[in-house]
Amino acid sequence: MIEYMQLFLGTSFSSKSPREIQILKDHLFCINTDGMIEKIVSPAEPDYQPLLDTYQDQDNFHRLAEGQYFLPGFIDLHVHAPQWAQSGTALDIPLYDWLNTYTFPLESKFSDLDFAKKIYDDVVDTLLANGTTTALYFATVHKEASLLLAQICAEKGQRGLVGKVVMDDPQGNPENYRDTDTHTALVDTEEFILAVKELAKSTKQGVYPVVTPRFIPSCTNEALQGLGDLAAKYDTYIQSHCSESDWAHGYVQERFQKNDAFALHDFGLLRDKSVMAHCNFLDEDDVNLFAETGTAIAHCPISNAYFANSVIPIAHFHAKGVEIGLGSDISGGFSPSLFDNIRQAVMSSRMLEDGVNPSLPAQERGLLGSRITIDESFYLATAGGGESLSLPIGRIQENYAWDVQIIDTKIPSARLPIFDGNEDLHDVFQKMMYLARPENIREVWVQGEKVHSR
Ligand SMILES: [Zn+2]
Repeated sequence: MIEYMQLFLGTSFSSKSPREIQILKDHLFCINTDGMIEKIVSPAEPDYQPLLDTYQDQDNFHRLAEGQYFLPGFIDLHVHAPQWAQSGTALDIPLYDWLNTYTFPLESKFSDLDFAKKIYDDVVDTLLANGTTTALYFATVHKEASLLLAQICAEKGQRGLVGKVVMDDPQGNPENYRDTDTHTALVDTEEFILAVKELAKSTKQGVYPVVTPRFIPSCTNEALQGLGDLAAKYDTYIQSHCSESDWAHGYVQERFQKNDAFALHDFGLLRDKSVMAHCNFLDEDDVNLFAETGTAIAHCPISNAYFANSVIPIAHFHAKGVEIGLGSDISGGFSPSLFDNIRQAVMSSRMLEDGVNPSLPAQERGLLGSRITIDESFYLATAGGGESLSLPIGRIQENYAWDVQIIDTKIPSARLPIFDGNEDLHDVFQKMMYLARPENIREVWVQGEKVHSR
């Protein structure tokens, strides 16, 4: 019999398709030394009992208690790690003031590595405790502090994709917080890419460098082209913001006489490994370009309620074949929890479908066909994120990484309202989606290693 590193017994929920949840009741999950799910065995299969007999008295056997369930770990496709220090503040002021009074002064402090370590340690711990096993991070313009964030992810066992932010245009950025000049921005980015690739060699769960122009308004054409070239040279991920708000959308139109998507594409910044945050104002041609190039959208529903001037038609974009995942957008979004963002994505889509202005007649108020279900929203936070990153993550399925959260529905301080021992499991799933809090997340595993427990 093959030796597995870990064997788990319990019930899992995972996406079978964007609309369907697959429930595996009382299955065995066999994890190999690489931290991958090598085999899933149902109670009806002949090797179920022999496996159970072999493993059940060993230390590497884990049987879930009654009321506990496996979910895939969440994939947060858009987090500004430094902004964790200001999460929940200043969301009532306009974007311009939010950036200049709060965000840029805060991010400029990450030249101090002691300060950076304090915040980055805490944000990685917090995201893990909220079930986020993979995160796509914006750091700051500082090369050393950005590398520190990658090292902290590596140490704590989170799968981190980290970008040193580029903002080199003296016109578009504050004097005390930007790259020294375009040349330095590109040299720093290249050194950062090489350092993270080196770190990745000793990191089981993976850590990845990400080419990160903040957004078009903060970058010169030379920097955008240079970053596109670096991404091609080293085959890296790319992240930025795209068509987020009326202002950003209008700015790019004025500078390039085209939409964000086509402007980014001209600089080589749309590729299979690209993830663009927000994308609320994509038009039909932009959406087709995203689908053709394999560029993914990081949908950040909480943040959008504050800064995007609109609700993104996610159901429509998904139907056009664009890869979409969820992002917390800390701290444009206040919550480090993708559970909160799953809920908001559903609620925002309902409001887009029905419309929100009661003085309009019902038939003119909304956008028909816009709603997504809780199952679809869960898909975005898990399998959709994995597809966006082209990594075998986000599903509890053979040949995927063992990245899971163990949800305890019976924890005394946060017991879910489940009163029938034989309650339909899809109903239990929906209750977890809407009601689970961090207290319910008993354990988090990444690549077969336990990285959080409570
Ligand atoms: Zn953002």
